Amino acid sequence: MSIRLAPAVEELIRTLSALPGLGPRSAQRAAFFLLQNRKGALDELASALNTARRGVGRCRLCNTFTEGDICSVCADEDRDPGLICVVESVADQMALDASLAWPGLYFVLNGRLSPVEGIGPADIGMPQLLKRIGAGVEEGVLREAVVATSYTPEGDATAYYLIDALKKRWPQLRVTRLARGLPSGIEIEYTDLSTIANAVYSRRDV
Ligand SMILES: [Zn+2]
Repeated sequence: MSIRLAPAVEELIRTLSALPGLGPRSAQRAAFFLLQNRKGALDELASALNTARRGVGRCRLCNTFTEGDICSVCADEDRDPGLICVVESVADQMALDASLAWPGLYFVLNGRLSPVEGIGPADIGMPQLLKRIGAGVEEGVLREAVVATSYTPEGDATAYYLIDALKKRWPQLRVTRLARGLPSGIEIEYTDLSTIANAVYSRRDV
């Protein structure tokens, strides 16, 4: 006979194991840790989850996580509003910004196009991105859009789609892509900062 866990404990483990990076074993470990530390870890996690659920949304301009209407990057007047860098995720945005190579603004897509998984342009926020770029071009502010998707099959598909959409609509806009120095097949968030910085400095016109 094996021990049957209480349904609520099983539910906690099941929910935790759905998180990226947590398999069934580590989810069980995390669940038991939380339950053994009721007053500390469990309460803190519950409170942080509630605060995040209530307070964290998406920036109206760039789609990154923010607690206000507009994020701190978009509100930063020291950044060049003529440059916009399109990334796949908030993690990629953070990696790019940590490289200190990018002086402009961002737009964060909700991932990448994946026809196999049925993920299309609307799912990843392409309409909002095109609207944002259109507004920038019409105001005469935006000079360059950098496509900073990864060199993975889906990242490439996303880049081709976006480059095509931008060229058709605004032929006058400079469109670039991060240099090929980035390693193939991995996300930008896992790339070292000097490689990212080089890829930004030697970005190429497309
Ligand atoms: Zn923003």
